[in-house]
Amino acid sequence: MINNRMLVLGKQPNPIRALYAYGLQRKAQVGEQNVFDLSIGNPSIPAPPQVRQCIESLLEEPPEVLHGYTMSPGLMSAREAVAANLQRRFGIPATAANVYMTSGATSALYISVAAITNPGDEVIVNAPYFPEYKVMIESAGCICVEVPMRHSDFQLDIDTLRRAITSQTSAVVINSPNNPVGCVYTEETIKALAQLLREKQDEVGHPIYLISDEPYREIVYGAQVPFTANYYDNTIVCYSWAKSLSLPGERIGYIYVSDRMQDAADVVYAVQGAGRSLGYICAPALFQRVIEQCIDSPTDVEAYARNRALFTAGLDELGYTYIPPDGAFYLWVKALEDDAQAFSDRAKEFDLLLVPSDCFGAKGWVRASYCVSAETIERSLPAWKALKESYAR
Ligand code: PLP
Repeated sequence: MINNRMLVLGKQPNPIRALYAYGLQRKAQVGEQNVFDLSIGNPSIPAPPQVRQCIESLLEEPPEVLHGYTMSPGLMSAREAVAANLQRRFGIPATAANVYMTSGATSALYISVAAITNPGDEVIVNAPYFPEYKVMIESAGCICVEVPMRHSDFQLDIDTLRRAITSQTSAVVINSPNNPVGCVYTEETIKALAQLLREKQDEVGHPIYLISDEPYREIVYGAQVPFTANYYDNTIVCYSWAKSLSLPGERIGYIYVSDRMQDAADVVYAVQGAGRSLGYICAPALFQRVIEQCIDSPTDVEAYARNRALFTAGLDELGYTYIPPDGAFYLWVKALEDDAQAFSDRAKEFDLLLVPSDCFGAKGWVRASYCVSAETIERSLPAWKALKESYAR
């Protein structure tokens, strides 16, 4: 018998991907340059040249080695490279034993949630949030508890989080720099969260894990991103090179279970068990090798910084309201009517593709990705203008 939950998930694809698919179709009809697809977070800058050079030199390796399975947690050399990188950058005593290579951040998140929850547990997310969080939490048989971020500054709302944590809470998921808002949680916010979680752990008598989803860690415009595991011992970091090295289709990332976690050894076993039970045999072998060699390649944020300036200046001139982003490459723009879906549908009439906020657990906003060419942003501005004027009629 078909699984009804899977049927529903399949019939209602992720709204971001649905809009992206519509954009591809529409481009085929009216021409690529006439569609302003700001839907998906596909990096617009190329992967650094080191990645290509590295792949070319790896092709000299014997194919049976190059394309063979790796151990499930990954190649020891790749895990050592990740641990060394974390030690160097954040001063954490990271060991390779606590690093598990994954197929991007999505699988890192699924595995982490499955590893540290039991059906019926509650997992807290901070809204607006990456839509797949709800799917992954519910896939683990858990309850997704949404806590709105503080609307004044889009930092975590510690008081509301305090009220939301119960004896059933096993984890809190955070994402900074944030998709969709672009906010970066300050050190003060992370310290307050860590303090709250420590207090609540004592109160409920079991660990409350912090799952820190960090695919945009390097994509910031001057802001400092506190390394969460340095503030809270029960932290599991989920990382991906999808954005920092522009490798989204290669599906490569990792889980790092903090070496300071009291039950780290068991959590690492549970991560391995969850990976096994979810069918992840190993992360892509070629890209584990690429990462091992390219882990220190710098992230090029210049193009995104220029797009951000161009885009915000354009929207300022047109009088749109948005949250100035400190990181990632999304602009969170206030819809011109309460119904974000209706606003997004109206924008579509101008071939402007904006993701309505409902799928992020928020009302009345849209997300516009600026990881596109500067030309696309420039050319989209008349569509934004026409969209605004259509509300004045
Ligand atoms: N988490 C957030 C906040 C994201 O924005 C994304 C992708 O856009 C992911 C996780 C998934 O990343 P990956 O493509 O590495 O699975």
